[in-house]
Amino acid sequence: MGQNLISEAVVLEEVKKAIAQTLKLEPEKIQPDQSLMKDLGAESLDFLDINYRLEQAFGIKTARHFVLEHIEEMFGEGSAIDENSQLTEKAVTLLKIRLGDPLPVELRAGTDMDEVPPLITVQGMTKAVMDILDSLPSACGSCGNSAWKSEDHRRVKCGSCGAEAAFTDGDTLIREWLTRIQEEKKIF
Ligand SMILES: [Zn+2]
Repeated sequence: MGQNLISEAVVLEEVKKAIAQTLKLEPEKIQPDQSLMKDLGAESLDFLDINYRLEQAFGIKTARHFVLEHIEEMFGEGSAIDENSQLTEKAVTLLKIRLGDPLPVELRAGTDMDEVPPLITVQGMTKAVMDILDSLPSACGSCGNSAWKSEDHRRVKCGSCGAEAAFTDGDTLIREWLTRIQEEKKIF
């Protein structure tokens, strides 16, 4: 699947705008490789606000839970985070696949879980939104036609019946990704 109605450049611009509005910064000063928490001063609650703005801009539903929480839910308590709130070897393996290696901060088994959210960058957030947009089904669920269009290059509608596009939500996409990686690599 994929879509060619909304470009990554537009998504990056909206991500910068959402961050700028939430954190009261100038969008021009925000760079793709910056960490929201370390470089831009975001706190946990700010992510809710930034995500809400992106959901409104694109008509999507972003993930409510981090990858680590999904690993715990799918593969059992203690599979990602041990009793001392530290990352397991398996969690580190998965995070490296997900976030790319090398990472700005070195992760290893025993790293405190609080070190993970600062790894979220402007580019990473842009990619998460692109993943959701790329889940656009080939045909409209309401009328069955394949006639997606986007007049503002942000919201996708059916050119045939006018229905809003139904994308897969962010949490489902993370679970699908974990299922696929597990099948390929048998980490757990
Ligand atoms: Zn339709």
